Amino acid sequence: MNQPSLLFIHAHPDDESILTGSILAKAADLGLRTIVAYGTRGDAGETSLDLGNESLADRRIREAEAACTELNVARVEWLAYDDSGMDGTDTTKNLEAFCNADPDAVAADLGLLFADENIFAIIGYDRNGTYGHPDHKQVHHVSHAAAAELGSGWVLDVTYNREYLAKLPDADGTLDLGFAAAEADLTHFVEGDELFERKMKALMNHTSQVPDDVNTEDPPVERFKARFGTEWFIATAYNGATELGLLADLLQPKADWVSPL
Ligand SMILES: [Zn+2]
Repeated sequence: MNQPSLLFIHAHPDDESILTGSILAKAADLGLRTIVAYGTRGDAGETSLDLGNESLADRRIREAEAACTELNVARVEWLAYDDSGMDGTDTTKNLEAFCNADPDAVAADLGLLFADENIFAIIGYDRNGTYGHPDHKQVHHVSHAAAAELGSGWVLDVTYNREYLAKLPDADGTLDLGFAAAEADLTHFVEGDELFERKMKALMNHTSQVPDDVNTEDPPVERFKARFGTEWFIATAYNGATELGLLADLLQPKADWVSPL
């Protein structure tokens, strides 16, 4: 049996850095083996770059693989469903879109794909999909369905801290507290200035997606850090797990969190 691994299921290229860059960097520091599986290649995204002959999907695959290399990810897989796009757009009606797949069927495929792996924990998103995107909500369903297929002890839902976000300035109107989880429901977090720097470095590989204003000095980076600097999780035990095991050194318990506000 292979060494135990952590499987991160992500919806699109760039989600690995934005949502889990710090925990991926910390896992590598602890010698934990990490795997990232993408539901889609982010082909419904937009870019302001001239890509020449390269498709957006191909470009985003290259960017994601560079980001994963930066974060010392051991294995990257592409489930290659179509990007569902945002709610209310025609792309969500595409039968090949990730959001329209049967979560149990995707989980079964993951079971085959990773039959040679020993997946200790699966990292996905909370039931709101972190911000309501149909592919992100699908990640929630797939990650929990996959726990049985892969025999994993834990599923971690990536989420946000609603009470903390409510204290941040919402100057551009993009903070939707309805997608965040109540602090009472959170179980663990990962944060650290050095981890955040590595998360940003990984994110900067996504040149087709990163707005110019993030790629400058603060305040944009500081605003990003205020929102994404602490990675919050809701841990759920599966298959009789009672101890965090490998996750004990990786995750900090919510009780240890000190709000900067
Ligand atoms: Zn995404």
